[in-house]
Parts: sequence; C-alpha cells; structure tokens
Amino acid sequence: MKIVQMSDALANKIAAGEVVERPASVVKELVENSIDANSTWIKVDILEAGLEQIKVIDNGGGMSEEDSERAFLPHATSKIKSESDLFHVKTLGFRGEALASIASVSKLTIQTSEGKEAGTCLVLEGGKIIDRKKSDARKGTEITVDHLFFNTPARLKYMKSLHTELGHITDLLNRLALSHPNIRFEATHNGKGLFKTAGTGDLLHVVSQVYGMNVAKNMLPVSENTLDFQIEGYIAKPEVTRASKNYISTIINGRYIKSIPLNQAIIRGYHTLLPIGRSPIVVLSIKMDPILVDVNVHPTKLEVRFSKDKELFTLIEELIRNKFREITLIPEMEQRQKPKIKEKSYQHTMNFESSKAVAEPTGNQLNENMHINEEKTERESAEEPVPATTVEASLQSEPEEKEIDDHSVSKDTDIQSDEEYANSSKQRVPAMYPIGQLQGTYILAQNENGLYMIDQHAAQERVKYEFFKEKLGKPVNVSQELLLPMTFEFSKQEAIFIEQYKEELEKVGLFFENFGSQTYVIRSHPNWFPNGFEEEIIREMVEQIINEEKVNIEAIREEAAILMSCKRSIKANHYLNQDEMFRLLEDLRNTTDPFTCPHGRPIIVHFSTYELEKMFKRIM
Ligand code: ADP
Ligand code: MG
Repeated sequence: MKIVQMSDALANKIAAGEVVERPASVVKELVENSIDANSTWIKVDILEAGLEQIKVIDNGGGMSEEDSERAFLPHATSKIKSESDLFHVKTLGFRGEALASIASVSKLTIQTSEGKEAGTCLVLEGGKIIDRKKSDARKGTEITVDHLFFNTPARLKYMKSLHTELGHITDLLNRLALSHPNIRFEATHNGKGLFKTAGTGDLLHVVSQVYGMNVAKNMLPVSENTLDFQIEGYIAKPEVTRASKNYISTIINGRYIKSIPLNQAIIRGYHTLLPIGRSPIVVLSIKMDPILVDVNVHPTKLEVRFSKDKELFTLIEELIRNKFREITLIPEMEQRQKPKIKEKSYQHTMNFESSKAVAEPTGNQLNENMHINEEKTERESAEEPVPATTVEASLQSEPEEKEIDDHSVSKDTDIQSDEEYANSSKQRVPAMYPIGQLQGTYILAQNENGLYMIDQHAAQERVKYEFFKEKLGKPVNVSQELLLPMTFEFSKQEAIFIEQYKEELEKVGLFFENFGSQTYVIRSHPNWFPNGFEEEIIREMVEQIINEEKVNIEAIREEAAILMSCKRSIKANHYLNQDEMFRLLEDLRNTTDPFTCPHGRPIIVHFSTYELEKMFKRIM
C-alpha cells in the first residue's frame, strides 16, 4: 500500500458528495452566495427540476477577474481569514467549498462584474476552466449550472422524480425568502413563474406568498428582545394546524436551520392548544451574537449548536405562551356573568374559557381544546371530594381498558334479563337509565348494578369516532357533485406535489383543477366526506402526499375520524334532556370500545351497588 495525496479534482468531487446532495443543494449554495454578496434581488431559473439547468442571477457586489478564478479553488473564501473569524461568522457561507464542489460535478458558467469595468466570463467543465472571456459590466453575478452530476452517474441514480426534486427546491426557496424578507426573490421552472417576493422587508407578506393569504390572515406577530436575543416572527393561531413539523421555520441570524429542541420549545409554547399530532405554522427569526452559535457542525450548516440554549428555548416557549394568554385575556371582563369555572381552576383554563368569546366561527379547534382542558380540570376537582372507597371505583376506568372490560362484563351480564342479553351480545356496557345530568357535563345513570357517571363529551366522541371510522372505511368511489365548487389556495410546494400525485389523489376521489398558479378548484369529492369537514380532509390528504408521497387512506381515516368526532361532539356544560341522554347511552353501548374516548381518556366511571352500600355502611 502506498499513500498518495488526492488530486484537487478528486478531493472536490468527494467534498461535493457532502455539500451537493441534490439540485436543491446547488440552489442553496448559489443563492446563499448571492445573499452574502449583499444582493437585493435574486433570480433563480430552473430547468427540469435543476438536473438540466440551474441559473442564479443576482445584483450583489460581484467579483474581480482574479477573484472569479480563485473562487473555484478548494477552500477558497473571502469570508473568513483566521481561526478566530470562525466564531464570528456573519455570512451564510465560510467553508469555501461550494463553488469548487458544484463546478466539479457539472458544466458551469459564471459571469460576474463589480460594475466598474468589463466583467469576466468563465466556463468550467468538471471543475476545470475551459474558457475565459470578457463580459458586460452589469454589477452582479450570474452562475449557470448545466447537466448536474453528468460525471457522477451514481449520484444521478439517487435522484427522485423531478417533482420531488422540484419540491425540495421550492421548499428551500421558501425558507430563504422567509429568512430574507428584504430581498426580492423571483423563481421560474421551465419558464413558468414559481415564486416571487416583493423584497420590502415585510415578513408577513412573504408568509402570504409562501403559505397563501388564508394562513397569513391567521398569523399573530411575536417579538422579544433580551440582552442576548432578538426574536421576531409570526405564529399561526392554533386553529390553523398542519400534520407535519415542516411548517415551522426557525432562522438564526438569517440562516434557516433545523433544530429539534427549538421546534419542541415552540410546540411547548402552544401548550394544549394544539390538537394531538398536529403542528403549528411558525416563522421565527432569531438574532444573536454570532459567538453564541456554532454553525460549523454540519456540512450544509442546517444544524447548529447554541450556547445559552436553555435560555433561548425557555424564552421562545414563554413568548408563544404569553401571546395566546394575551389575546385570550382581553374579553375576560365581559365574561364575568358566567361563573362556570371554579375559583381554583388553573390559570390556563381561565384563559381558554374567556377566549370562547373571541374565537372566530371557524376557530373550532381552539374551542375544542378549551373544552378538553376545562373538562380535565373539572374532572380532577370532581374526584377530590369523593370518599376513598369510590376513588377505587373511578380508577378502574382509568388505565387499562382490559381491566374495565372484564369488570363490567363479568359482573353485569349475569344480571341482565334474557331479553336484554339477547340483543346485546356484542355490547360491553350494560343497559342503564339516565337519572340526570351533573354540572351539564356528566350523565348520571343507573341499573341494578349501581351508579354510572358518563362523561358526555367523551362518550359522544367515541360514538362519532366509530361512526366516522366505519363510514370512512367504505370504498370511496361514489363521488358527490358540489353545488358550489371549493377553491383552495396552496403553497407552491403543495401545488407541485398535487401535480405530481394527481393520479393518486384521483384514485381517492379528489380531482384538482388548476386555476392559476396556486389556486385549485374541486367540483366533487367522495360522498363520505361529512359536511363541514371537506376542506380539512382535503388538506390532510395533500399534506400526506407531501410527507409520505402517497395518500395513506388508513391514516387519513383515523385522523379524520378523531378530528370529526371531537369537533362534532357535544361539549361540557351542555344541557341534555332525558331522551338525548338515553340515546347517547344506547349509542355508546353499541360501540366496540365504549370505555375510552379516541384520545384515551375514560368515559364511564362505575359505582357498584355493593360499593355504595359499603359507603353508607348498609353492609360492613
Ligand atoms: P464560501 O461561500 O463558503 O466563501 P463558496 O465556494 O460558496 O465559498 O464561494 C467562494 C467565494 O466566491 C466566496 O467567498 C465569495 O467571495 C465568492 N462568491 C461566490 N458567489 C458569489 C456571488 N454571487 N457574488 C459575489 N461573490 C461570490
Ligand atoms: Mg458559499
């Protein structure tokens, strides 16, 4: 064996594997260079998802002839000079390997000028300069990357479909635009407009370009200044949620980064306002002394490390939490005549309670969560005064479904009359008769076996959940014409995926008709879509396509069933008459899983006659 030093060409090709993973990485490196060159306008033209051509034009500072050649040498950078600079990086780039890497796996043309005299044009192939000439003196740089990966067929093989690659590019451009609202971005794909921002510095405007007007309308501004951190951004109201965390953008000193703990802090900030399994739409731009963040831990700098991270995470969590507290607190004074909540209720419950008045008609989700929250506290306090013997009883319905199951079936079936028994062979809860309602929230019911307390909301959730699940489980080929077509505004990225997976979507009964860039019309949908939930289900399907590249009907059914059951169910503090209670109890008995709601909370608490008699010392 003999050790030899690699040629630069080989070393660059290897480095390219790290930096240039796919067309989107090239776009990232080129656009970041344009940003570092102080551009106020950046245009990106893509052909065939970048595999044919990627062109980035900027109006930044440009390069001298000498620099333009040097820029393609390995580890050539104008951005840092010494080791200590590494701790004060203010630019997006600093490793000096992007241009060398990209050039080594493509045919690249650069045209650049500082605007003073004629510019330089270089043509490179596989990293070698094969042509140089003068070019015009327009200040700025234009880099064209043709036939990416032409000399690395193995890399080409890893490329997914054009749509997927274009999806990555759009996502990246979205984040770059969100990170730099003061830069005007324009992007095209195969000559068609893909994306455009105004560059006026208005972040909310960029949000509306990226996610659509409807989302932008539901975003709340947040900002915070401390000695170490300046935070600014927008957070979506909890009623506008998404299934994936992809809609959280965190930006540190103008650099879009991915940080799981940061995302977690954001989600903690939403506290219980977010439905289970849902994520918010958030754009947070955080400025801090570069010394507090180490960007040199990841080749594409997507991950960073913070010092003072705990402080930052707490700050963000509180910032978001306080925002919701603030907006929900306003109408509290008008709410005085509703003394529903006990004195000792948690502060959060108070807030959510009062926010009912402010929640828009569309804001069901917020309401929903308030109720869940409120029930929880009520349940907690309701359990308190109960004597020790019955706590046991109530606990039985808590943890293990199995246990409760055995409990009620074994004890109850043998007491049922023959007739009852005959028509309830699959019923796991015995027949019971409502006595009344407690606090507008719990149904009290009885039979020979004693007393039952039923959480009416949880019970109905279970009933609806099973109903919807069953309904959603049926074949979806019957479609329903709509009197009024539904119009959807999607983000660019979503639109790309809709185009790519049109067939998949059609298979599940969704026919998207394009109405100009991000607008789609639906004229019919499968007839199992329940009224009022069409939009949510359709968006859910689109999100699944994006995240999983297929529509997983199973998962949609599950999610949709939970969502619908929850929204459609009667709330706590809702009066039910005898008839309604009876019907709800009957419906509950007919479910296959009558003991817990779809979120896993107990539905029924049983106080057996025996326990009651013991409690009152009728028996010892
Ligand atoms: P880095 O960005 O890490 O410095 P690159 O390989 O991406 O490394 O770029 C090398 C150098 O080329 C940069 O430091 C910068 O001086 C110059 N450069 C690259 N792109 C541009 C551009 N669009 N405008 C002006 N200068 C550029
Ligand atoms: Mg760079």
